[in-house]
Amino acid sequence: MIDINQYIKKDDVRSLLQKMIRSQSLNPPGDVRECANLIADELKRRDLPAEILGEKPGVANVVSSLEGQAGGKTLIWNGHFDVVPPGENWAVDPFGGELREGYIYGRGASDMKSGLAAMIVALDALRKAKAPFKGRIVFQAVGDEETGSEGGTLLMIRRQIGADAAYALVSEPTNLQISIGNRGLRWIEVTVKGRASHAGRPHIGANALQAAARMISGLEKLTFKAHHPLFEIPSPSLSVTQIQAGTKINIIPERCTFSIDRRMIPGETSESVRQEIEEVLRQNLSEGISAEVRITHEGWDPYALDPASPLVVGLSRAIKEVVGESPKLKGKAGCTDASHLFHKAHISSICFGPGLEDTAHAANERVALEKVLTAAKVYARSAMILLK
Ligand SMILES: [Zn+2]
Repeated sequence: MIDINQYIKKDDVRSLLQKMIRSQSLNPPGDVRECANLIADELKRRDLPAEILGEKPGVANVVSSLEGQAGGKTLIWNGHFDVVPPGENWAVDPFGGELREGYIYGRGASDMKSGLAAMIVALDALRKAKAPFKGRIVFQAVGDEETGSEGGTLLMIRRQIGADAAYALVSEPTNLQISIGNRGLRWIEVTVKGRASHAGRPHIGANALQAAARMISGLEKLTFKAHHPLFEIPSPSLSVTQIQAGTKINIIPERCTFSIDRRMIPGETSESVRQEIEEVLRQNLSEGISAEVRITHEGWDPYALDPASPLVVGLSRAIKEVVGESPKLKGKAGCTDASHLFHKAHISSICFGPGLEDTAHAANERVALEKVLTAAKVYARSAMILLK
C-alpha cells in the first residue's frame, strides 16, 4: 500500500496556514483577492492547476482539481477563506499566525483557513504519491461565506463547477468530528395593524402594540414537533429580535412590526414555519386588529445526511484509520455551505475540519497544529476510500 502520509509534512502545513492567516481576507468589508492570489500561487507551486473566478467586487474564488487514474466519481473539497473582523481583546496579533504551545493563533485559524491548508497539502500529497483513485477531486476555495455565499459557493453551483459530484466535503471547524447536517434559517417580519385614536379615548382605537405583545407571548409558548437527536441543538428555535411601534405617547398605535429569527430542523419548510406563526397570530386577534407574516430572508435550508450514507461511512473509516477512534456524528447549530451543496446542487455533503467552533469569530482564535496535520491525512485517506 502506498504511504501518502510521508508527503504530508508538519512544517509544510504550518507555514502554509501561517501565510494564509497573515494574508487578511476580511468580509465584511469583503476584499479577499490578495488571499485568493496566495492560494492560487501555492497550488501552482505544487504543480496543481489554479483558476481564479469571481463576479462580486473584491471577491475571488480559487478552483483546482486532481484527476485520478481512471474515470469515476467526483468529490468536491470546499472551504471558505474569508474571515470576520478580529474585534478586540486579543493577546496576540490576530494576523500574525503565531505558533504558541502547539496552537496557531489568528483570525481564520479555526474558521477555516486551517481546513483549507490541510486540503491543499492533502491534494498535493495525493498527486505526489500518484495515489490510485478513480474519478477526480475538485477543490473550491471560496471567498464569500461570512456575509452570505452569493459570490462564493453559490457561484460555484451556478457555474456548475463539480456539478456532477457524488460527494462534497466542507472543511468548516468540527474538531475532527463529522457534522452530518445543519439547522436552517428564516427571517420573518410580522406586521400588526390596528386603529389610531386619542389615548384619552382608547376604546375607539385598536392598539396594535398591545395586540403584538399578546402574539409575542403566544409565540414564546410554541412547542415544536421537529427534532433530530444528533443535532447539537436538537430542536427548532424562534426568537423575537426587533420591534417597532407608536408615533407619540398619547396616540393609540395603529401599527406594530416585529422581527423573528427562526432556526429550523430538517423536515421543516418555509410554509410550515409560516403556518405555525399565522396560527398563533390568529388566536390573538381582536376587534380591529389584523396581522400579516412575511418571510424576508430565506437563509439556508436545514438538512441532515443519513448516518448510513456512503459519504459518512467512508469518512468515518478514514478518521478511524488515521486517528484511531471513530468520530462522533452531530448536526451543526449554525448554517454552512454544505447545506447549499446539498439542497441546490443535490450533492451528498458533510463538514469535517480541524478547527474548534468555540474559538471561531472570537478573540484569540486558534487551532492545534497537530489537528491540522491529522485533518490533511484524513482528507487524503478519505479520497482514496470514497473514490476507490
Ligand atoms: Zn466558516
